[in-house]
Amino acid sequence: MFNISGAPCLSASVGHERLSSKSMRLAYRYGPLAAITFTALLAHGAEPLAGTPSLKLSVAPDAVALKAGQHSVKVVYTFTNGTATTMKIKERYAHFECIPPWLTAPVMGPFPTSLDIPARGVVCWSNDAYVEPLMTRQALKDGFWPTGKLVLAQSFSVVANEYGVTDVTAKVTFGLGYPALDLTNFPAGYYDVTALKAFIDDPDERALLMRLLDFAERAPAALSNVLGICPDPRKKIPLFINSFEGVCHYNPNPEPHISMPWWMVGQKGGIGGLFAVYPHELAHYFLMTRFPSPPKWFIEGPASFFGNKVTRALGHEPSAVYQHQKLLGFAQKYIHDHCTYCFDARWPEDTGENDNPDDIHSYGYGYAYQICLELEQLCGEDFFRKVFHHMDKTSLDFTKAPGEHEKNRLLIEAFQSQTRQNLRKFFAEKGFK
Ligand SMILES: [Zn+2]
Repeated sequence: MFNISGAPCLSASVGHERLSSKSMRLAYRYGPLAAITFTALLAHGAEPLAGTPSLKLSVAPDAVALKAGQHSVKVVYTFTNGTATTMKIKERYAHFECIPPWLTAPVMGPFPTSLDIPARGVVCWSNDAYVEPLMTRQALKDGFWPTGKLVLAQSFSVVANEYGVTDVTAKVTFGLGYPALDLTNFPAGYYDVTALKAFIDDPDERALLMRLLDFAERAPAALSNVLGICPDPRKKIPLFINSFEGVCHYNPNPEPHISMPWWMVGQKGGIGGLFAVYPHELAHYFLMTRFPSPPKWFIEGPASFFGNKVTRALGHEPSAVYQHQKLLGFAQKYIHDHCTYCFDARWPEDTGENDNPDDIHSYGYGYAYQICLELEQLCGEDFFRKVFHHMDKTSLDFTKAPGEHEKNRLLIEAFQSQTRQNLRKFFAEKGFK
């Protein structure tokens, strides 16, 4: 290292550019290609022979622990020219690599970067290095943070010179300075929320979480209004937001709770799908905690039927209309295909088959939705409120029924007790024998 003491330190402030997270995503898809590009770059930027006067580059800081919500850091590059001629730089390239090295992103650039480093002089140049939120999240999702490190390498191309100095490269290592994957627990109005710290500590992520909670907090009252019952008011609804992938679902184990994957919460453009899905899962929570182990048909179809009323009540009409039409379409297919499994304990989807190749659910799901709709049309707007109130008062318990047929019989008798319409005949026509 040539130490040129007393040389002035010039600071050139140059506009920063964002390092594209799109290229990061590309690297996931085109990893091997990116690796080849990277190897070629290294060969091009080979170090000059030891002892030869040269151009040295250092960077400060060379290691950064990102705080929650921090996505950029100002870095200063210092060029030290040990030669007797001015070194000219016109452009630079940048790329990300990682430790452990399973990811190499494509090289970005060239970025115009005009610098003159005088003979035996020192020049400082700075810019902001970005690790964008999407990139941080992607790395979290892939289990890369917080033990892994992300390295930003910037290479400056030196204009041809008599010393044969070509590229100089400096690297900044990023780590995560907080326990993003730890769980945090906090109470909300109706909920007991368990979430990853990453979703709470990062202001951008927190805003998305709050948008979900705003919606979720309005749903229980709307659903109580639809069902005429509510879960135990002394117990808050456990809501887990601790995974990136998966589906929003109600889970009875180890205790009844609702799970919500982050991809759904974090959709920046809107959470349209969520407005239909969340009330559906909440309907499961209300009904399954109160009336566990119901007949098979009285699970998914009704969850969508009652959930959809909440979606509509909370002002998301297009979402409700879309769901409604989709499910009635399934019902038509069920009838058209002469299916008969609606009142059985096992449906095609339970035996590993599926009569609805476009959806994870059988067409019976839509048929059950249509049965709920027809019951309401036949018996009146407040029919289900009366039924659930009655089921609650009489402590109807499906878990004591010996089989699917008996569960159905219990449910139909509960329905029948609340209307003058002949529902035994109605269900016989629907296929219950
Ligand atoms: Zn469901």
